[in-house]
Amino acid sequence: MRNYKIASLPGDGIGIDVTAEAVKVLDAVARLDGGIRFEFQEFPWGTQYYLKHGEMMPKDALAILASFDSILLGAVGDPSVADHVTLWGMLLPIRQSFQEYVNLRPIKLLPGIESPLKNKGVKDIDMVFVRENTEGEYSGVGGRVNPGTSAEVALQTGVFTRHGTERILRFAFEVAQKRPKKHLTSVTKSNACNYSMVFWDEVFKEVGTDYADIHADQYLVDAMAAFLVTHPERFDVIVASNLFGDILTDIGSAIMGSIGLGASANIDPSFKYPSMFEPIHGSAPDIQGMGIANPLGAIGAVKMLLEHHGENEMAELLQQVIEQQITAQKVLTPDLGGTAKTWEVGDDIVTRILASR
Ligand code: ATP
Ligand code: MG
Repeated sequence: MRNYKIASLPGDGIGIDVTAEAVKVLDAVARLDGGIRFEFQEFPWGTQYYLKHGEMMPKDALAILASFDSILLGAVGDPSVADHVTLWGMLLPIRQSFQEYVNLRPIKLLPGIESPLKNKGVKDIDMVFVRENTEGEYSGVGGRVNPGTSAEVALQTGVFTRHGTERILRFAFEVAQKRPKKHLTSVTKSNACNYSMVFWDEVFKEVGTDYADIHADQYLVDAMAAFLVTHPERFDVIVASNLFGDILTDIGSAIMGSIGLGASANIDPSFKYPSMFEPIHGSAPDIQGMGIANPLGAIGAVKMLLEHHGENEMAELLQQVIEQQITAQKVLTPDLGGTAKTWEVGDDIVTRILASR
């Protein structure tokens, strides 16, 4: 029996609704497979916890989470809590202390989904973003000089270590090698960021010499933003720094047709620590409590969790089931033009999983 201990962090708002569906789907996978077991433990951390206790999660949270095989995250955020509190109080400590240096986001336009790019006749969109997740522009290095005076200066320093840059680029080459197109695009801004990004470009060239079979190219981030809208079908695997990856992946999720469809994984490839899987959307207070959040992003995150643990057969099955569910156009939430509730989509996925054998 392959036993996986999963920490479930539903968080806030619709994170709670979609995580319930993700857990349901994992249970269905275990029922179908028979050889897999998931042990879930739920932790009520997030902004509601913060409003009561003054911190997003307890002091020993990281020690507790470290004993799990993976973390399933919903979303954290609340209009009454500053975004940097939610980020620095929970998400960044987890990503950084568990060395989840890879943020993976697959972007695929599925048949039947209306992409905002549909008028361009763009169809064949299937790419994966590999975002550096622990350093770069989000290292938290900086400060304020002469605070409150007319001579005030705010500094935010990007930190790009050779170790950190090499390992993310190598990981990206490895991802590209497993895909049919074997094409890797590195995104920087070397003309303006003349230290960090020039360094990144150098390391990209160096690491690339170990991957002669990969078609590797480079774009400036401004041009890349435009190309993702005009020619998204040109790209396969895209690697970028923390900040650029953050921005470009939001373009990616917009192309997919709904933010509710996107999934992402924060991965420690060494398996020393748990990796964390989440939908890309936030807590979405505007639709909280309405039962209409699309759970397919969270369910896509479950697919990535299965892949991470080498459960490839079940991961592939789940991907097929998600695609069938969408193309059937019957049980869809309002963001995709349907009238289904969150749990009806989850139930439909479960039915399809169990019917597959
Ligand atoms: P946060 O502060 O936690 O990031 P947010 O207000 O930025 O929350 P997002 O989750 O980024 O909210 O959502 C942006 C928009 O997309 C919202 O209008 C929301 O209703 C919609 N949305 C987000 N997730 C989903 C989903 N799973 N299903 C349907 N609509 C969604
Ligand atoms: Mg947001």
